[in-house]
Amino acid sequence: MMGALGPSRPVAAGPASFAEALAALDWDREAESIRAKTAADVERALQGGRARSVEDFKALVSESAAPYLEAMARAAQESTLRRFGRAVRMYVPVYLSNVCHNRCRYCGFALGNEIPRVILTDAQIRAECGAVRAMGYRHVLFVTGESNEVRLPYFLNALSLARPIFDHITLESQPLDEADYAALGAAGLHAVSLYQETYRRATWREYHPAGNKSRFEWRLGTPERAARAGIRKFGLGVLVGLEDWRADSVLALRHLAFLRARHPRMEFSISFPRMRPAEGGIEPKVPISDREFVQLMCAWRLADPCVEALLSTREAPAFRDAVFPLATTHLSAGSRTNPGGYTCGDGVLPQFESGDERSAAEVAGMLAARGYRPVWKDWDASLSGPP
Ligand code: SF4
Repeated sequence: MMGALGPSRPVAAGPASFAEALAALDWDREAESIRAKTAADVERALQGGRARSVEDFKALVSESAAPYLEAMARAAQESTLRRFGRAVRMYVPVYLSNVCHNRCRYCGFALGNEIPRVILTDAQIRAECGAVRAMGYRHVLFVTGESNEVRLPYFLNALSLARPIFDHITLESQPLDEADYAALGAAGLHAVSLYQETYRRATWREYHPAGNKSRFEWRLGTPERAARAGIRKFGLGVLVGLEDWRADSVLALRHLAFLRARHPRMEFSISFPRMRPAEGGIEPKVPISDREFVQLMCAWRLADPCVEALLSTREAPAFRDAVFPLATTHLSAGSRTNPGGYTCGDGVLPQFESGDERSAAEVAGMLAARGYRPVWKDWDASLSGPP
């Protein structure tokens, strides 16, 4: 089996941080080098028997790869089956708070939007956790906005409430410092998820004009702080379509390669949250079609056979059912994206409308009917050593 992008591959060992590595790269040159890829580059990238490079990934996400989609899909599906078998891990978000001090232009939770704001109480957290546990889940993803009210003490309390209920807990919230991640890891947090949204430094402030999220480098350094704090798994991703998704994906792959080289025992996942037209009031700068989305997923699988890949309920049922075998290792189902959404959140705006309203049981049934095994918890932490 081909390995993931290896430590000596594509990022030089030199830079002390990924921020430093990124500063040495030029966004426009990256985008231009993707546009310059040819059919011969794609055919070379598709040849098996060796680890693929960032240059191969560029070819696979380029427009020149469009005619090769069926070959990419076949190779990606074979790779996914070889590495992950027919097990698909089920995950579900529990939104703890929609209070946010940022003004991301693509998000309904942004500060200044006149919506009911909620921070779940202990009783509400217990109720939400109980509701998703009753759906079958033993792994939960806690999601919050970024605010001073919802920080380390709140997270530690939420963890203490959830630990008796779940085997595995992931947190998707604001970037924290190393000491906070260490405290959360010691309290039983298994994984952190935080999407960079875009790696394009020059336009960052257009989308993130105020609040902590306007600090590009602080966000960029989050996986490194979490890794140094001993967090076992980190979820990366970009908001697909916010900027040129091809260039953003190449930079996300470079980020992953940098992290793998320095934290070889850490596990990583990649998500593909696709920006919807008019979400939060702005249009995707570079829309991505369904075929291009499949191309992107397959390119990731071919470039990194070991990375876990998540497919959320942003996507529609027929599309999810058709494409999950190609690259996906984790599917969400029955998701609610408003705080209290499973028990008490009537009238609270969701962060995004679900494209797949099926219940967790229905999605699990679909998987079983296709010969796949739904797994209700994430990888057992006891199976992986320290990062
Ligand atoms: S994307 Fe996150 S940080 Fe930005 S406004 Fe929405 S909840 Fe806040």
